[in-house]
Amino acid sequence: MFNQEDLRELAALRFDKPVLSVYLNVDPTDRTRDEYRLELRQILKEAEGVAAEEDIEAVEAFFDHQYDWSGRGAAVFSCQEEDFWKTHSLAVPVRSGVTVASRPYIKPLAELADAYGSYAVAVVDRRQARLFLYDLGELRAVDEFVGEDVRKLKRGRGSSGGHGRRGGAPISSQHEEEVVRRNIRDAAGSLTAFWEKHEPERLIVAGGDGMVARFQEALPKHLQHRVIGTFGADMNAPEIEIRERSLEVLEQVEKQRKREIVDAVFTAAAKGANGVIRLADTLGAAHEGRVQTLVIDRHYHRPGYRCQHCGYITDQDLQKCPFCGGDFVEIPDAAEALVTRVIEEGGEVEVVDGNAKVKEFGVGALLRY
Ligand SMILES: [Zn+2]
Repeated sequence: MFNQEDLRELAALRFDKPVLSVYLNVDPTDRTRDEYRLELRQILKEAEGVAAEEDIEAVEAFFDHQYDWSGRGAAVFSCQEEDFWKTHSLAVPVRSGVTVASRPYIKPLAELADAYGSYAVAVVDRRQARLFLYDLGELRAVDEFVGEDVRKLKRGRGSSGGHGRRGGAPISSQHEEEVVRRNIRDAAGSLTAFWEKHEPERLIVAGGDGMVARFQEALPKHLQHRVIGTFGADMNAPEIEIRERSLEVLEQVEKQRKREIVDAVFTAAAKGANGVIRLADTLGAAHEGRVQTLVIDRHYHRPGYRCQHCGYITDQDLQKCPFCGGDFVEIPDAAEALVTRVIEEGGEVEVVDGNAKVKEFGVGALLRY
C-alpha cells in the first residue's frame, strides 16, 4: 500500500519526457472489475496522442496481467523512455483519470494523504491499551500498555474484605475502581509518549462501553482535541479489524466534510452568490478563473469542446468561441478538463461519492468572488 514516503519520492521526480499518470477507482463495493476495465480503456483514450504509446501499452498490460485488484484504488505512473514505472495500490477509493505531464501527477495522492494519512488508534479497556499508528491504511508502529490485573485483585480481596463498606460500596470494588483509574491514567500516559514519538495528525479511541469516554477524559487537552471518532472494539480484536474500523471512521469524517462543502455550494448557488451548479455554468466560472472549490461526482464525465485559441472549455456545440471567436476541437471529457483547469488555477477539487444532488448535476463550485 501507498504511504507518505512514496508521496515524497514521487513529488521529487522530474523528467524530460512526459509521464503518464493513471488513477483507477477499483472499489469492489462500487462496480465490477469488468466495468473498471472498461473505464480504464475509456480514460486511456484521453491520453492517446499526448502520452507515449509504450506508456499506454504498459499500463494496459499491467491491468490485464499483473494487477491483483487489491485495495480500492490504483495509481500507476509510467515513463518507459526514462525507465520509470511505479504502481501503488490504495486502501481508499480515488477518482479515475489520466494526466500527462513532465512529472507524476500526485494531487489525488496528496489529497488521500490529507484525509487518511498518519493517525493513531488506542484500543482501551480497564487494564490495558493497545496503540497503533497508521498511515493511509498501512500499519506503521504498535505499542502496548498493560496495567494491574483488575480481575485477579477482585477475586483475592473480595472474599476477605467483602463486609467492610465505605460510602456504600464494598472496599474491594472501591479498590478495584482505584486500580482501574490508575490503569487508565497510565494508559493515557503511554499514549501521550506514543504520540510524541510518532507525531500523528489524528486520534481514534476504541474500546468497550464506558471505557472510551473515560479514557478520553484522562487524556491531556491537546490530545482530546485530536480525537476525530470512536468505535466499539474488544481488547483482543485482530489488527485488521482495528484497521478497517478506523478507516471507516476516517471515511465518515471525510464524507461529513464533503457534505458540508456540497451544502455550501448548493446554498451559494441557490442564493446566486459565489456558487454555481451544472457543467455549463461551472465551465464558464472556471474560464474566468473564479473557481475556488470544485465539487464533482466521482463518475461524472462529459464529452465537450475546447477553444483552440483561448482554451475555453464547453459542453455546448458552438460555432465560434464566445470569448475570442476561436475554433473548437472536440475533447473526450470536458469534466476532466475542468478538473485540470481548476487545479492549474490553484483551486481545490473535491471528488464526491454517492451524493444525490452532486450526482444529478455532475459538478458545482464555490467561487472566489
Ligand atoms: Zn476562445
